[in-house]
Amino acid sequence: MTDPDCIFCKIVADQIPSQRVRETERVLAFRDINPKAPTHVLVIPKDHHADVAALARRDPNLAAEVLTVAADVADDDGVTETGWRMLANSGRNAGQEVDHVHVHVFGGKPLGPMLSG
Ligand code: AMP
Repeated sequence: MTDPDCIFCKIVADQIPSQRVRETERVLAFRDINPKAPTHVLVIPKDHHADVAALARRDPNLAAEVLTVAADVADDDGVTETGWRMLANSGRNAGQEVDHVHVHVFGGKPLGPMLSG
């Protein structure tokens, strides 16, 4: 499944450049273009699913693989020991900007409270 208008589908297809850090047959991890922490990586399934709910319900094995790759990214960046945060925005109130499910992996500094304000 690919959405021709989706920016992350274009990254998967290498039509838009990205800084890839990890890849499996079905999952891709690349650095966020506007990093909020020393480690800020996005982990996505290569198939297009709009959000976590769609991914988890349609393909739970793929959802699990996304989490595994997130943990591998934390290992690669050396933040497993110091701690890291995984975050997935779903919908308007969460501020989801890109409608291709993605898990943010943050680390490399104290990350502060879970929510601001
Ligand atoms: P969200 O608000 O959870 O939808 O997060 C979308 C994230 O995608 C933001 O942190 C953006 O900085 C990031 N982003 C948007 N375009 C790109 C891109 N071309 N390469 C890497 N990250 C991107």
